[in-house]
Amino acid sequence: MYKITLIPGDGIGPEIIETAKNVIDATGVVIEWDMVNAGLDVYAKEGILIPQKVYDSLEKNRVALKGPITTPIGQGFQSINVLLRKKYDLFANIRPVKSIPGIRVPFSNIDLVIFRENTEDLYIGIEKMISPGIAEAAKRITEKGSRRIIQAAFDYAKANHKSKVAVVHKANIMKLTDGLFLACARDIAKAYPEIQLQEVIVDNMCMQLVMNPAQFEVIATTNLYGDILSDLCAGLVGGLGLVPGANIGNSMAIFEAVHGSAPDIAGKNAANPTAVILSGAMMLEHLGEKDSADLIYLAVKEIIQQGEHITKDLGGNATTTEMSRAIIEKILTLK
Ligand code: ATP
Ligand code: MG
Repeated sequence: MYKITLIPGDGIGPEIIETAKNVIDATGVVIEWDMVNAGLDVYAKEGILIPQKVYDSLEKNRVALKGPITTPIGQGFQSINVLLRKKYDLFANIRPVKSIPGIRVPFSNIDLVIFRENTEDLYIGIEKMISPGIAEAAKRITEKGSRRIIQAAFDYAKANHKSKVAVVHKANIMKLTDGLFLACARDIAKAYPEIQLQEVIVDNMCMQLVMNPAQFEVIATTNLYGDILSDLCAGLVGGLGLVPGANIGNSMAIFEAVHGSAPDIAGKNAANPTAVILSGAMMLEHLGEKDSADLIYLAVKEIIQQGEHITKDLGGNATTTEMSRAIIEKILTLK
């Protein structure tokens, strides 16, 4: 039996986390869910964004499934997502983007994984006003931070028989920061002679991705480019409602969708639960429950392909609960 921390979060978070939990339970893997919450609702009630019991639960269980958490706009609030990633050194943000048959998008052959560096770059949060009307932000790139994310991408490529890794940068302009990232990539690539290193400048990457995305298998990049490219790639396969993610460090893993709290559709039972359900499947794989993870992938694929119980963002008219119920029923028949 596994003990897993479950964080519902804000906006659509509670609705989709509930469905993901039910889907995972339907596979038969026995999980004791430790539900603790953080975010805006908690802040409104308790005056604190992340209560101590959230940290305690994460440190005890070391694996979590998490909904999106909104950061209040304004000074004095650090992003909770960034804070957790930094505090627990969850350096690898891994986001698989894969075409799902049945969704009407221009490409049907996308199968790539983004490795986004998760702890540095412009996300270190050092910004200052130089003088009225002039603001500056610091971008930090380290050899250690770069090497470990690039290494993770190459290790993944090797283990999954991929033939190339695209390293995305802007070293022509940011010669020291992105230059260091690129230099680390060139050095690490030497140890993988069977894997081709594609060096792609980020603006060119955007064009390549929208014209011929199937040429990419694994993408390794810095924090901000990874954030932007993730949304772009989500759009290529049908939207943010579909793309899962994992934040992995050496001693903790937090699984969450790429999308945010989607306040525009919160509380309407309208959100697509797929991204967080697939994040749950990634979590099962991480736990070594590959068969159950595959069961979820297959059920989700079949329900989307069938097209009868899909949410509005995918062109259907099912609610969140209807779509997840269909996925659960499919799991039970496939089992
Ligand atoms: P946050 O500040 O928490 O990131 P956001 O306003 O950036 O919130 P996102 O969650 O990133 O919102 O979503 C961007 C758009 O994509 C929204 O219009 C939202 O409705 C849509 N979207 C995001 N997630 C889903 C989902 N699971 N199902 C359907 N639509 C979604
Ligand atoms: Mg967002």
